[in-house]
Amino acid sequence: MTEDVRRVFRMDNEVLAFRFTATVSDRAGRTPRERLTDAARLKLWLGAAGLDVTDVSPTGLKGALELREAIYRIGSAIAAGERPRSKDVHTLNTIAAAGHAKAALEHERAGWHLTKTTPVRDALGVLATDAIRILGGPERDRVKNCEGPGCAGLFLDTSRGANRRWCSMNTCGNKVKKSRSAAR
Ligand SMILES: [Zn+2]
Repeated sequence: MTEDVRRVFRMDNEVLAFRFTATVSDRAGRTPRERLTDAARLKLWLGAAGLDVTDVSPTGLKGALELREAIYRIGSAIAAGERPRSKDVHTLNTIAAAGHAKAALEHERAGWHLTKTTPVRDALGVLATDAIRILGGPERDRVKNCEGPGCAGLFLDTSRGANRRWCSMNTCGNKVKKSRSAAR
């Protein structure tokens, strides 16, 4: 039986690559939670992200986790105004280059076609390419780590005043609001 994706993962980040990094929650908390605990979970997440794959091998899962953590470290470095580690940049670029997914406009929505032979590699290539687009794009100075309790998740601050502090108003923003009003 497949699990309900929204119970397992937080899918509310606007940036695909950052949504992927959110598969670890409470990164700055006492007990970070890994949600990609096995290959089936990765398949589930990819499907929910519009990247349907038939099967994920243990090697595919390992590659995905490497990519995810490289994206997270690069994003956090940029958010802190630091230079990302070249090893992480190399991982990101290698995975982006290995993918053969083709973008397609379908029913007025952007979609991806993966090859039959290496769908997981292609899917990871899509995630890496999305990360490059954001981390190296014109809005890179709007990449931030969430200030929600224990969260530290990456997000792109698209607010007009560039003053957003939380990865999501519905989760972290609300938590902070609630704890403030409880303190009053
Ligand atoms: Zn957050």
